[in-house]
Amino acid sequence: MAALSPQLKQATGVLAERGEGVHIHGADGRRYLDFTAGIGVTSTGHCHPVVVRAAQEQVGTLIHGQYTTVMHRPLLALTERLGEVLPSGLDSLFYMNSGSEAVEAAVRLARHATGRQNIVAFHGGFHGRTMGAGALTTSATKFRAGIGPMMPGVVIAPFPTAYRYGWPQQQAVEFALDELDYLLTTVSSPQDTAAFIVEPVLGEGGYVPADAAFLRGLRERADRHGILLILDEVQTGVGRTGRFWGHEHFWAPEDGRRLADVLITAKGLASGFPLSAIAAPRELMAKARPGSQGGTYGGNAVACAAALATLDVIRDEKLVENAAEQGTRLLGGLREVAGSHPSVGDVRGLGLMCASEFAGPDSRPDPATAARAQQEAAARGLLLLTCGPLGNTVRMIPPLIVTAEQVDEALGIWAEAVTVAVAAAGHG
Ligand code: PMP
Repeated sequence: MAALSPQLKQATGVLAERGEGVHIHGADGRRYLDFTAGIGVTSTGHCHPVVVRAAQEQVGTLIHGQYTTVMHRPLLALTERLGEVLPSGLDSLFYMNSGSEAVEAAVRLARHATGRQNIVAFHGGFHGRTMGAGALTTSATKFRAGIGPMMPGVVIAPFPTAYRYGWPQQQAVEFALDELDYLLTTVSSPQDTAAFIVEPVLGEGGYVPADAAFLRGLRERADRHGILLILDEVQTGVGRTGRFWGHEHFWAPEDGRRLADVLITAKGLASGFPLSAIAAPRELMAKARPGSQGGTYGGNAVACAAALATLDVIRDEKLVENAAEQGTRLLGGLREVAGSHPSVGDVRGLGLMCASEFAGPDSRPDPATAARAQQEAAARGLLLLTCGPLGNTVRMIPPLIVTAEQVDEALGIWAEAVTVAVAAAGHG
């Protein structure tokens, strides 16, 4: 009898029978608040009726048309529609199935367009598990150990993780930019550097927001040296942070200058259907050599129809605004819980991308208490995930439709879960 690979260690033990809005209905007959949905790609909530209807209709019309053979209407309509929400100038799109594939495509495009090889990624970043995207990923050694050699031509530079260094934010930013300059002088000369790739908020790396001065510094260096700036908005995009794109928190130049040369989106885009895209200016996208990008299912018609419906729901139900409002509520509540538990060393987040980092009395990362809090929350009906290099950060990433009542319910459960976990660790 076949069974799932033993490498699949499942955090909560819940067998999902059905999803509905913010909830997962388990085979155990219980209903769980799904505050992991954003990583599991559900932006509009589980099985939003508008998304379900659009996908069902598309299944009966055309399941897929391979874009090297035929074009289909959902792909054209989605492209037009994404043009309305993308930063101006990113007017050319290419579709794939997953975030990792889109990262690979962005790297290939950057190498073709610049004729240079090296990609600078940032410490704590996560860009996927394929051999190329994995080479850019340093959010934890588990994504790399024993797999190498990874794709060559990758240079890792510091990200301004002020909490980790115990520094003021400005100092962390200055350090990160100085080190980047140093790397461009000592390791990867600008003439060899094709692109920087960065997340607006480190996701798997522990929910660390970037910084306006840091991103401005990257843009300046990119302009100075003819390096492309790739923004990985796989986790932060499509309303998640309370702005349509995560980087909009840090970037609003009066002169209309764009931050990204290439923007990557996936996850929340199609409410759970596999779909990702890279967006870039047409002249840049034209430099990808024909045949170098793509795959069998990229831009699948059902996924595109679901994405169109997702964008409708986000607009009609004002979900970006809701993410901002409920995110503020959630972050405030998490700070209150942390206030009575010194074990929660830091609370961070943007919009509905919030996290609590656990540290022991000696300020050392405390993954055991984080894992226990996650389990206690699941036992009380709240599904959560950990993140961060050592897994000592617990994140909350509910669907964008979450209500104030559901946020409060989750916070109530969280307060109990933390109390039990901290008591069990013996350092309450
Ligand atoms: N980039 C970021 C920022 C991500 O968070 C992820 C997934 N966690 C990926 C890329 C990879 O996406 P996928 O799992 O769809 O390949």
